[in-house]
This record gives sequence, C-alpha cells and structure tokens, in this order.
Amino acid sequence: MSNSHDRRLDIAVLYPDLLNLYGDRGNARAMERRCAARGIDTTVTGVDIGDDWSPEQSDLVLIGGGQDREQRRVHADLQGRSAEIRDYVTDDGVVLAVCAGFQLFGHRYRGWDGEIMEGIGVFDAVATHPGPQIRRCVGNVVALWEGETIVGFENHGGRTYLNNGQQALADVVSGFGNNGGDGLEGARVKNAFGTYLHGAVLPKNPHLADRLISLALERRYGLEAGELEPLDDGAALRAHAEALHAALSASESPLGRRFA
Ligand code: GLN
Repeated sequence: MSNSHDRRLDIAVLYPDLLNLYGDRGNARAMERRCAARGIDTTVTGVDIGDDWSPEQSDLVLIGGGQDREQRRVHADLQGRSAEIRDYVTDDGVVLAVCAGFQLFGHRYRGWDGEIMEGIGVFDAVATHPGPQIRRCVGNVVALWEGETIVGFENHGGRTYLNNGQQALADVVSGFGNNGGDGLEGARVKNAFGTYLHGAVLPKNPHLADRLISLALERRYGLEAGELEPLDDGAALRAHAEALHAALSASESPLGRRFA
C-alpha cells in the first residue's frame, strides 16, 4: 500500500453555488476531512457554467441539489459535458449526484411546469415532477445500503423511475426515496452513486463517504490503495443514530412512510 502521504485526490464540485441545496457542498468538506485525517491530500475545484474543466482532471465528481430554476440554469452546460462525464463513469470514475444532480444525471427531468430538461444519461432513469399541486416528498429518510443504514433528508417534487436493469442504490426503510412507491432509493452505475439524500449525506454516513474515497484511491493508485485505516467516527455515528431515530419515530408504519 503506497504511503498515505503519497496519495492525493482531486475533487470537482459541479455548480457549487447553484446546486447546493441543504448544504450539499458539505459532501466535499466531509471528503476533505476524512482524507486529511489519513494524510491524503485533496484539492477541491468548483466547476461553474462555462468553466474549462474535464473529468479527466478529477478523481471524484460531486453535484448537489437545487430548485427547478437552478436546474434550468445549469442543464445546458451539463449537456455540453455529457459525453466526457459518461466516459469518466465508464472508466470507473467516482460520482456522487444528489437530488437535482441525480435527476440531471438520468435521461431527463420534467420540471414542475412540464418543461423537459435533458439529462446526461449516466443513470438509466427518468424523473418527472407531477406538478405543484401534488405533495412533495419531504422528510427524513432511512434506506438500507449493502446491509447498512444510510440516513438523510429529502425534499423533492420530482419522482425518479429506474428503467429495467438499472440498479438502485438502496432500499427505502422510511421516507419516500425515488418516488414514494417502488421502495427504491437512488441509483448506481459502476462507481457513480445517485441519491435523493441531502444532509449533506456524507457527514452522517461515514461508511458511504469512505466507500467513495476508497473507490477513487483504487482507481488512481491501484487496489491496495483503497484500504483505509478506520477513523474515530463517534460524532458522525451519533449524528447517524439521531437521524435514524428521527426518521423511524416519525414514520407512520414499521416500514416507514409511503407516499399517500
Ligand atoms: N427541483 C428538483 C425537485 O423538486 C430537485 C430538488 C432538490 O434538489 N432538492 O424534485
């Protein structure tokens, strides 16, 4: 295993000012801290509309949540980057796409006013907003990912539907998830993770954060580099437990809340 001080990760945050709903930029901060605690250097680069950036410069690509208005502002620029981002994912590039970002990393998102925003097709999924008169999917979420809980907060009008064969990220235990009906949360393609969980999601889910870091290290430095020494996650795990309790105590059924 290469010495941790030889390792670094370059993180790109797409549209950090426009897609930062519920502090999703905290995901980059969580990555920085968890890497620094292991002596892994990081750079974090914000990529705005029109910026000269290629995913080839990055080991992790993060995109957060936003209102339909912000999605409309970024989606043409994101379209212009779709081929190289898809190539990056095909090459095992690591992505965390949250809510609005998750929707635009699918094939398309139909907003609350019926306007279609083309996505970049990383996930074989479509998202559609049923209109402002339909109840939004709002609340605390618990989902089961690889046998462990992941927790977060969701607030989305759009519903995401995975096409046949598209793998979900997790199974909903409490909350709405992708659409409040099929019990699925998020999506995953190779090392691209899509989720509706805000929070930001990574500080309260250190196991998910470490998986993304590990995958990025493996891709850059080889398999052994992905082995991470454990951290003292007391505070993160307490936050996780509190979020778990908040979600499950508020849920209307043992299997959690379902869209009425
Ligand atoms: N605007 C999108 C929706 O309402 C995404 C919202 C978000 O990112 N929280 O579904």
